[in-house]
Amino acid sequence: MTRRYLQLALPSPLRQTFDYILPAKMDPPPPVGARVRVPFGKQSLLGIVLAVNEQASFDEAKLRPADEAIDSEPVLPDSLFRLLRWAADYYQHPVGEVFDTALPVLLRQGEPLAAPGETRWQATRLGQLYPLDGTIKRAPKQAAALVTLREHPQGMIPPLLSGLGIDRPTLLALEKKGLAECVTQSPPASEQASASLREPPLSLSNEQQTAVSAVIDHLGHFQPFLLFGTTGSGKTEVYLQAIAATLARGEQALVLVPEIGLTPQTVARFRARFQTEIAVLHSGRNERERMDAWRAARSGRAGIVIGTRSAVFTPLARPGLLIVDEEHDLSFKQHEGFRYHARDLAVRRAQLEGVPIVLGSATPALESLANATSGRYELLRLKERAAGAQEPVFKLIDLRHQPTREGFTDSLLKAMAATLKKNEQVLVFLNRRGYAPVLLCHDCGWHAQCRRCDARPTLHRNPVRLHCHHCGAEGPPPRACPSCGSTDLRPIGLGTERVEDLLRAQFPDVPLFRVDRDSTRRKDALANLTTAIHDSKAAILVGTQMLAKGHHFPRVTLVALLDMDGGLFGADFRASEHTAQLILQVAGRAGRAERPGLVLLQTHQPEHPLIHELITQGYPAFAERALAERRLLSFPPHGFLVLIRAEATQAELPAAFLQAIMDAAESLGRPEVQRWGPVPAPMERRAGRFRAHLLLQCPQRAPLRELVTALVPLIESLPGARKVRWSVDVDPQDLS
Ligand code: ADP
Ligand code: ZN
Ligand code: ZN
Repeated sequence: MTRRYLQLALPSPLRQTFDYILPAKMDPPPPVGARVRVPFGKQSLLGIVLAVNEQASFDEAKLRPADEAIDSEPVLPDSLFRLLRWAADYYQHPVGEVFDTALPVLLRQGEPLAAPGETRWQATRLGQLYPLDGTIKRAPKQAAALVTLREHPQGMIPPLLSGLGIDRPTLLALEKKGLAECVTQSPPASEQASASLREPPLSLSNEQQTAVSAVIDHLGHFQPFLLFGTTGSGKTEVYLQAIAATLARGEQALVLVPEIGLTPQTVARFRARFQTEIAVLHSGRNERERMDAWRAARSGRAGIVIGTRSAVFTPLARPGLLIVDEEHDLSFKQHEGFRYHARDLAVRRAQLEGVPIVLGSATPALESLANATSGRYELLRLKERAAGAQEPVFKLIDLRHQPTREGFTDSLLKAMAATLKKNEQVLVFLNRRGYAPVLLCHDCGWHAQCRRCDARPTLHRNPVRLHCHHCGAEGPPPRACPSCGSTDLRPIGLGTERVEDLLRAQFPDVPLFRVDRDSTRRKDALANLTTAIHDSKAAILVGTQMLAKGHHFPRVTLVALLDMDGGLFGADFRASEHTAQLILQVAGRAGRAERPGLVLLQTHQPEHPLIHELITQGYPAFAERALAERRLLSFPPHGFLVLIRAEATQAELPAAFLQAIMDAAESLGRPEVQRWGPVPAPMERRAGRFRAHLLLQCPQRAPLRELVTALVPLIESLPGARKVRWSVDVDPQDLS
């Protein structure tokens, strides 16, 4: 008999696949996409079968046989399998780690595909006919088990079998002889996703109706849509009604939301509308919950799957519709390891599944807008706010020459007082948690510095400490200046805790809720805060961007942005885009119900073109200007980037390594790809490591891809590759 070989993806940082000998006992061989246990050095690992080959691609003499097949069916549907292989290639990431990212931890540890209740043992055809008076008589337990199985042609679930004293080894022995088999049952008809609604849908505005119809018309085919709708314009209602049509076809919908968008409020809104089971996947769930949700999606039992970034890899039995809400959100990009962009992968997945995808946002990414302009995506516009609510009005407060108290101008405090007096709520936005970003010696100018980063640690009040937000280092602040001994150490600048102090003193009788990463650390803290906010009348909300997204606080009529100027001068080419998005998202919290909203933006730059254009003409005008700039510079979407990062504890190593990469790239040609660097990273030292960058840029994607594909094996073989940490970031979202 000729030998055959399993080509496997193994969880290893090596950018290669692995071959194992297919042992005779694995007959039939495991299908492509199934898990197999194999020896790896001294360990035992689980791999995914990529192919069963007649020939080995490595030296045969060194190959070992695989140990055990875990599955008799592929773990993932073919479309997802192909998506992952494509993604490994596109993002230049080891295929084994890609599969590892995509699968729930319990599955990676060998948990069976089907939940215990979903598997049944039954006699095979051979088992039905097998003579009971033959050799099997010598194994009385097996014979008895076989008799029982024959009496139950629909199969028996494991708890029932063990109740009858039939143990697993006996069943496995029968399986080995081909007399019994363990099958996964598909959910019975009554458990299949239900299409009926719990509450009636809202009656749609004309704009909403057009959008819903467009999506429904394309069910069953690939078509990307960009749903560009102002905050509060009813995008969610469009999703809900498109999903209802999907369920009615017997298909499932997958909804991706940003990390801080997946609030209990969001899920509650879906649960209120639909009867069907809703599988929820996010980092706050434990592995058992994730596994259950994954199975509910894969089996088709859950009609709707809602999740954050990695939920893009959730298998669906009957995919019908993909949705990416707040598609511009940065949390869709994974920032370490396998650096995929979930929105981009979702579009690719929709194409492989042959289903429509809706990307929704009030402030779409410039990439997505460009795709809509070029016709690759169909643009759906919602210009009006739903249910008669009005767009908020913007006003600038010029900070120049104005006295401020802890960052607040008099006019802002007056506007706040007037709003509170009407029993309405004020949202004060500041994207900096903690008490103050700088601790300064008033006598000599010394300031606190993180020992491990080129950064200043933030002063926190509760408990009092200096905390570096870049490396996590924490410690008590010094009592006296380490440089001159003075005790006149002053907090400089504003954080949310300091704003809270000031406003509590200023408005002692008004409830104040601070919403940031510190105040919501405990489980359920955010849910409790939002409930309290909903239950209050006059109230002040102080918060970071956690408050900016997805929330619907009907009583908020005044939004104050204390200080957005920092974002205008960010080093990153996307800084202005992100600032514009943030301003509009925060502003969008104002006046979402009957009462109109006002947005006050304090700035030292009232004439800055970005601010000016954004608030007088809106996001499309801003985007047009920003896109024109990007075109001039060949930046995305008018060009493509790959960022190679290197870091090491020794200062000179990263740049030297990147220089070696530059030299290696020389021989590969591709002069149309520009190479920038090596340069130190914007924050050169972080968590004790020195960091450097090399940026590759090209107006076309193909030459850049070809260069990087050829370059990565060369990088791996460089002598320095083991001494530095390096990574390749395809389509980087930030250049820091
Ligand atoms: P978005 O997702 O665009 O920010 P939402 O879907 O949250 O907007 O809608 C904002 C508010 O308007 C919600 O309270 C929602 O219930 C309401 N709403 C949306 N569509 C309609 C409609 N067609 N009729 C009445 N109210 C609507
Ligand atoms: Zn000093
Ligand atoms: Zn630090």
